[in-house]
Amino acid sequence: MRYYLLPIIIISLMLLVLDNEKSVINKEMVSSTKEISYPFFDNAKIDNYITNYLDDYKDNEKDNILIDYDYYDKDNMYYLTFYKYILENGKVNSNSDSFFINMNDNIVNKIDNTVYEFDFVTGRNVDSDKKLVALTFDDGPNYNTNKILDILNKYHVPATFFVLGSRIKGNEYILEKMKISGMEIGNHTYNHLLLTKYSKDKIKKEIDDTSDLIFEVTGKRPRLLRPSYGSFNKKIKSVSEMPIIIWDVDTLDWKYHNSKKITSRVVNKVRDGDIVLMHDIYSATANALNSIIPILTDMGYSFVTVSDLFYYKGITLEEGKVYGYAN
Ligand code: ZN
Repeated sequence: MRYYLLPIIIISLMLLVLDNEKSVINKEMVSSTKEISYPFFDNAKIDNYITNYLDDYKDNEKDNILIDYDYYDKDNMYYLTFYKYILENGKVNSNSDSFFINMNDNIVNKIDNTVYEFDFVTGRNVDSDKKLVALTFDDGPNYNTNKILDILNKYHVPATFFVLGSRIKGNEYILEKMKISGMEIGNHTYNHLLLTKYSKDKIKKEIDDTSDLIFEVTGKRPRLLRPSYGSFNKKIKSVSEMPIIIWDVDTLDWKYHNSKKITSRVVNKVRDGDIVLMHDIYSATANALNSIIPILTDMGYSFVTVSDLFYYKGITLEEGKVYGYAN
């Protein structure tokens, strides 16, 4: 077997497991010995930029095993990512560079240069012997969600967003940004009603309408439900076709709007396997993140999405069951 075929097989298997993501409209695997037929943009400035990048990339990476690319396009804005994969010690080492290309303004920005290792199931590299914590954000998307995403991306921290169906329209690009940033998107129902007071049919509609919208925008159905107010009863559990995720650290950010208070509530209460409740719609929450992330990192925590938290803790999530932490 040619040496470069093994990662191709592994990555193909991994993509089968992981990737039913509709927005990845092109994925091509080529070895470094082949020319990369990357998407041309029919724009001299942008095509030259990418050609030069690839020439440098190939010159500097003689030991390439595999290169491929993804791109994602929306309204003449492209995210284009090139990857190099190397298999080592049962893990995939990947090196990627991403570009944000705005065809409207004729601008191309190199936005990332990361080297990472990842697990086949989660697509991430997490040391599961370390303490784990899942940050969760409810009630978005709104304009402030962007700020939260930028901070999470700055620190390469994945998180889970429980979105409201009623807030998706007009904010589709925020869900797309979540997806591109590797965030998990969960269902927080449509209208934020106190569901315990409603009929099974109404509860089901609140949940399904939201899942349908998330699927429409991201190509992926949410796998987690957080009922509004975190309230649940037998009726909700029987209707939910997803595990019900609550929390065990409540920042009360909606009450305090004070980044110091939010930070100290997390730092003082957090334990391994915890799920932290925040709201992405407040600017104090965004400010608090700038201290929460470095402090928890210093305390030895790794950040994971909710699904990954339970995966790493060896817990299988079951539909209709309620989970507030994983330990
Ligand atoms: Zn809520």
